Amino acid sequence: MDFTLSPEIDDYRRRVRAFVEEQIIPLETKADAYDEGENLAPAYLEALRAQTRAAGLWCLQMPRERGGQGLGTIGMAACYEEMNRSIFGPVAFNCAAPDDGNMMLLHKVGSEAQQDRWLQPIIDGKVRSAFVMTEPHPGSGSDPAGMMRTTATRKGKKWVIEGRKWFITGAGVAEHFILIARTSDDPRKGLSAFLYHRDDPGWEIVRRIPILGPEEHGGHCELKFNGLEIPDENRLLEIGDGLKVTQIRLGTARLTHCMRWLGMAKRALEIAADYVREREAFGSRLAEHEGVQWMLGEAAMEVHSGRLLTMHAAWKLEQGDFARKEVSMAKIAVADLLHKAIDTAIQLCGARGYSKDTVLQWMYRYARQARLVDGASEVHKMVLSRNLLDQGLDFWSWD
Ligand SMILES: Cc1cc2nc3c(=O)[nH]c(=O)nc-3n(C[C@H](O)[C@H](O)[C@H](O)COP(=O)(O)OP(=O)(O)OC[C@H]3O[C@@H](n4cnc5c(N)ncnc54)[C@H](O)[C@@H]3O)c2cc1C
Repeated sequence: MDFTLSPEIDDYRRRVRAFVEEQIIPLETKADAYDEGENLAPAYLEALRAQTRAAGLWCLQMPRERGGQGLGTIGMAACYEEMNRSIFGPVAFNCAAPDDGNMMLLHKVGSEAQQDRWLQPIIDGKVRSAFVMTEPHPGSGSDPAGMMRTTATRKGKKWVIEGRKWFITGAGVAEHFILIARTSDDPRKGLSAFLYHRDDPGWEIVRRIPILGPEEHGGHCELKFNGLEIPDENRLLEIGDGLKVTQIRLGTARLTHCMRWLGMAKRALEIAADYVREREAFGSRLAEHEGVQWMLGEAAMEVHSGRLLTMHAAWKLEQGDFARKEVSMAKIAVADLLHKAIDTAIQLCGARGYSKDTVLQWMYRYARQARLVDGASEVHKMVLSRNLLDQGLDFWSWD
């Protein structure tokens, strides 16, 4: 068992770290660097994206022949954590959700022609994308196979889409959409996946849903489909493979969330550590109080546990395993530790932690979504329980 990063991965990691430190973190204190959704404003984003390209740090997760850097999941784990030391980091490297997961999916399942048309412009940073699955009640949420109501009905060489979706991240700026819709009542093969363009008629954004925390670019939108026509050539995989497409996307995409969230948790503790090193109370620095040490020590240990779960799942994915239970365990644990690390940091920074003088409040509002997105923690626990009941002691097998 060897946890050492290869020299190539470590070189990328160090360069990402230096870039974030020198070019991105200073933007966090500039009022005009924030857009209306509290994300990085377009002018700064475009300038940073040009710089990450020039530095050879663009799109680490994509193959070199398509303009990326060709890192595997272990390399991504090491580098994404460094990127999200800043709240503005991942999007500057084209490694932020939802484009990140959409690119990985299209690269895995798209035909060569589909990749040229739908994937390449996202890699090139020319368009943004969205993944369209969740529906408002009584449609699909935690149970897409059983509850999806949006339909794709075959009409000659086209599919006609009717229905409603919501919480579609990035839809406000996306041009390329990956849509999951019902094509039959088959309980396992009832869904299919399609691609469509923003300019195709027959659909609309009904509203941008206001949320608790800062928004991804393009917000989280509610969409209505009213006769959108999709040519059959824009179907991903086979008819009935919609659930498979979803699982392929979410496997790695859930884990890249964990990678980024670990970077955010570490940054929160970094801010708290800087404060307690300097601040004094009751005759000594806060860092010398045992109660403070326990809080910081516990949070640091939890971040480390999350890193081990994430790196183990990354390693399994790199071996060609779906790593379903490993990804679920990482997702549950890292979502929890993210929230706790930020909460601890706010507490240790006192009133300053609650102010907008640091990014802790931004992170705190953002972090609450971690237990919901890409599957609620309870649903992941249900999956783990099913695995344990099926596998018994083999749940913890080394194979
Ligand atoms: C910020 C944000 C961004 C998102 N982006 C996207 C996106 O880009 N594309 C997209 O398609 N979707 C997106 N979603 C939707 C997200 O995937 C869903 O919110 C998630 O799958 C849960 O579905 P739901 O909200 O319908 O919850 P519901 O299915 O209504 O469940 C509500 C709660 O019930 C509990 N629960 C459900 N099932 C079980 C069970 N079996 N056992 C125990 N408890 C259970 C859980 O606590 C769960 O949180 C986003 C959501 C958020 C908050």
